[in-house]
Amino acid sequence: MFWADRLGHDIEQKFQEKIKSGRPLIIRDEKTASGRVHVGSLRGVAIHGLLSEILSERNINNTYLFEINDHDPMDDIPATLDRKTYEPYLGKPLNTVPSPDGVAVNFAEYYAAEFIGVIKELGFSPEFYRVSDLYRSGKFNEAIRLALEHAEEIGKINREVSGSERSADRLPINVVCEQCGKVSTTVATSFDGERVSYTCKDVAFTNGCGYQGTVSPFNGRAKLPWKVEWAAKFKILDVDIEGAGKDHSTRGGSRQVAEAISRRVFNHEPPFNIPYEFFNIGGKKMSSSKGRGSSSREVADVFPPELVRLLLLQREPQRVIDFNPEGDTVPLLYDAYDSYAEKYFADRATQNQLSDFSRTFFLMHRPSDRPLLSAHFLPRFSYITYLVQMPHISITAHVEKEKGSTLTIEDVQEIELRETYARRWLDTYAPPEYQFFLQQTLPQAAKNFSTEQKTALKKVLEKIMSFGADSISGLELHTALHDIKNEMGIHPKDFFSAIYISFLDRASGPKAGWFLSVLDRDFVVQRLKEASV
Ligand SMILES: [Zn+2]
Repeated sequence: MFWADRLGHDIEQKFQEKIKSGRPLIIRDEKTASGRVHVGSLRGVAIHGLLSEILSERNINNTYLFEINDHDPMDDIPATLDRKTYEPYLGKPLNTVPSPDGVAVNFAEYYAAEFIGVIKELGFSPEFYRVSDLYRSGKFNEAIRLALEHAEEIGKINREVSGSERSADRLPINVVCEQCGKVSTTVATSFDGERVSYTCKDVAFTNGCGYQGTVSPFNGRAKLPWKVEWAAKFKILDVDIEGAGKDHSTRGGSRQVAEAISRRVFNHEPPFNIPYEFFNIGGKKMSSSKGRGSSSREVADVFPPELVRLLLLQREPQRVIDFNPEGDTVPLLYDAYDSYAEKYFADRATQNQLSDFSRTFFLMHRPSDRPLLSAHFLPRFSYITYLVQMPHISITAHVEKEKGSTLTIEDVQEIELRETYARRWLDTYAPPEYQFFLQQTLPQAAKNFSTEQKTALKKVLEKIMSFGADSISGLELHTALHDIKNEMGIHPKDFFSAIYISFLDRASGPKAGWFLSVLDRDFVVQRLKEASV
């Protein structure tokens, strides 16, 4: 069974009673809007989103809540922003920091908008909410009171579960300083049932103003420390299902602390956890030469939604995802997509029940796209990436030849889609191995060809000429090249590098037979003549 179906099944068993009551199961995830959101943050969004889709498929009432955390303090300044401008805001709640574009309501909303856009494009449809609204509307008041009344117990949980020592004379609350507006800097020392006394002190990343005061911590004038806040959200929103990244889910980690606080302070059973592994961006450091980073927006721009979903969801949550948009992983991801597709189309044609493989393919598409899935020809992405770089050719004509029959409307749509994304990838992340520049004149390096290499090129020329004006197919030329190579006994590297150097001024390239077959015949003939003399 596909992992998400298995999880759906387990959840159905576990929550039988609530499901029977008709009340929606609450699924929750969140992101602090403190800067551009890394693509890795989409893993949690996607796991929860897919689960919500699967529960709905099973007719289980559910609500997927996604929190934009805009009440956390700004504790770092994104590298793209001017440090001097933003330094005074360090320590202040993100919803009180100005937006970088001067248009969005605040800093958090500016970054949230971009991330929300990506989430929607991927076909997920959570209900978005802001945690500052919960604080301001008083939803946190009871939890704040309980936390303050159980400060000792919270300290004990921290010590027992995570071994951390939180100073016994500070209360688990950060009020917003009435003088400087910072929330990171306030140390609360006493609570009289209505108001807390605090001092504004320096912290590692910013200075406090030294103010001492007494203020009500309710209705948005304070925030709970994050593990306490996490536990409070379990209760306030009555969350049933909430996964967490591996970094939080370890023994003694923040999740375990939050769960203990939920049970022992808020008297609430914490949600069903789905611990998930890291999403690693591999290869050389990203956001390099081409100025491309690894934000969710940038990555989602170079893939169609189903490929991003495949990247995030094909592996079960307990397995690490390694992704390198600047390497082979992109063409390989498309190849994986194609093999899922073939299986799905075959299963559909024979009306077999969907195998796990086919089911994966189905679920990787946005719910709105699923009814439209129909069998069609999928040209390899790596093939399209070099076709789009070859001048004066008809890509559809070449793909049609490759397919061996007339293209359908769906085939053409697929070609156009892959063309668009191949160009985007070439313009952004693609490594040099995938970039080909057809040389308009014979490269200098061809002057150093050996007699053997020249003879081999002459034989290739003769073969092409033997077809007359007829075009030669990629497969025919591929076979012919290997025959020539074998008959002559020329070393494969010497043979193929001579071809690539003649046309691309480099020693390697795409599969030579197909490569030459897509080029203009007269151009190929002329070039081989020049290179073989
Ligand atoms: Zn202050």
